[in-house]
Amino acid sequence: MHEFSLMQSVLNDVEASARDAGAERVTEIKLVVGEMREVVFEAMEFAFEALAPHTLSEHAQLTMRTVKPRSRCSQCGDDFEHDRFHWSCPTCDSLATELVAGKELYIDTIEVDLAK
Ligand SMILES: [Zn+2]
Repeated sequence: MHEFSLMQSVLNDVEASARDAGAERVTEIKLVVGEMREVVFEAMEFAFEALAPHTLSEHAQLTMRTVKPRSRCSQCGDDFEHDRFHWSCPTCDSLATELVAGKELYIDTIEVDLAK
């Protein structure tokens, strides 16, 4: 359940940004999650439900967007999308590929209500 610690750090970051902005509450949190992180969305939502109460994010809407894994071939230079289990080059079958996207996990945007 690494989702719990991921969500805890997301909420900590959101809380800090929201407080810096003088927000009264957070209305929406948008996350970008690479598929290679093997994050289970249901577990993220469960962690959010468990951790958000008594924070500014308590009533926020959580949305998550996935990023497909992408690699670049070291042999032929091809740049291609793939799934979590197949990363050989579709052009030359080389296994000498380098992951260029799909491991990210970051807060895209947050929406807040400002305190009056
Ligand atoms: Zn190739």
